[in-house]
Amino acid sequence: MATADLVIASAHIVTPAGVHAGAVVAAGGVITAVTTREHAPDAARLLDAGEALVLPGVVDTHVHVNEPGRTDWEGFATATRAAAAGGVTTIVDMPLNSIPPTTTAGALAAKQRAATGQARVDYGFWGGIVPGNANAVEAMIDAGALGFKCFLVPSGVTEFPPVTRADLRTVMPILAARDTVLLAHCEAPNPLAAAGTPGGDPHRHATWLATRPPAAEMEAIDQLLALSAETGCRVHVVHLSAAEGIEAIAAARAAGVRVTVETCPHYLFFAAEDVPDRATAFKCAPPLRPRENLERLWRGLRSGGIDLIASDHSPAPPAMKQIDSGNFLTAWGGIASLELALPAVWTAGRSRGASPGDLARWLSAAPATLAGLPHKGRIEAGYDADLVVFDSDAQLVVDPARLHQRHRITPYAGVTLTGTVRQVFVRGICVYDDGRFPTAPVGRWVGGREEE
Ligand SMILES: [Zn+2]
Repeated sequence: MATADLVIASAHIVTPAGVHAGAVVAAGGVITAVTTREHAPDAARLLDAGEALVLPGVVDTHVHVNEPGRTDWEGFATATRAAAAGGVTTIVDMPLNSIPPTTTAGALAAKQRAATGQARVDYGFWGGIVPGNANAVEAMIDAGALGFKCFLVPSGVTEFPPVTRADLRTVMPILAARDTVLLAHCEAPNPLAAAGTPGGDPHRHATWLATRPPAAEMEAIDQLLALSAETGCRVHVVHLSAAEGIEAIAAARAAGVRVTVETCPHYLFFAAEDVPDRATAFKCAPPLRPRENLERLWRGLRSGGIDLIASDHSPAPPAMKQIDSGNFLTAWGGIASLELALPAVWTAGRSRGASPGDLARWLSAAPATLAGLPHKGRIEAGYDADLVVFDSDAQLVVDPARLHQRHRITPYAGVTLTGTVRQVFVRGICVYDDGRFPTAPVGRWVGGREEE
């Protein structure tokens, strides 16, 4: 008699209480028990993962899907294939690069329509804050926006302009009253202007790096922290690159400011001095920084100074990435790594002492908390059965032609990563199985608080 839909047995189940041998039991899309193999019931599907890790599905809270409007950059079908293949079971889409940008309730509805029926993993949406849309915010929260993102410098697309301090003073009290989080791209305009016009060879990464100094991140972080202290609005620093930011954030936190911070796999994996000339696949903003900075980011993660890791999956077509010209100054800044984030973080983290429990916390539990998804991000009874079977010893050499994102541009090309994704389950449904996608798209919209 089958009493469960799915049982996954493994020597290494990664739960908030630690890693142990046993079985995860799921029924109706939900984890019903984490138990011993002996106590696991019969199930419609029994999977013995052997020595492989069973991890909670990755919750990637920083993904630019770009559909509708710029589906030629990336869309829900391709992005969520990449997600499923990479062990990502929930994505939260950023409000910019799609047209319209997600800055009104109507635009949020357009996003939702675009995703329906196409997504292989679950998905949610951040709303956007732009000058003059404060009066649209409440309706977007009511419609299921999980929080809001803003820029303090130009975003790269004209329809999503940056906000001023005055704009934030208007909108942050509204967000605070609804206990909604504000995410900010933290680079400030003045230090960027002070860095001046780049003088060096545009084919060298160092020339790009010189235009985006750590001081720009620091000034923006300080502004955001001050506004949070003033308004009581919860804030989150996206894609921290400059390690100096860790201390400023920790000090504010100690003083009672409600702030969290993420970094990205590429800041933890690649050092600026290793970027080959003309290799614009490595361009992102803020930029990759020197190795010494990378090691400080790792120390920040290990100490809890950095809360979580998100991919900032931000693809663009080859012409925009200037793949042929190799010009760092005119190339689109963005690295698409939904599919590789988990093995990249494991590869770089393992040699620095990171454990499977750290992976679960940085990539699943903490992002789920940020996005207010109470049923995601943990292997524990009552949580969604979003599960990844991850062979933490297997190696793979990244072949761009085998990636599932729309444009197969990646700085990880030819890199050997440790850790491969074998099977992925979304609410108990197998969405990826050793290179195959066995079901039609089953992804659902996670409407935040409405879920509770
Ligand atoms: Zn981004």
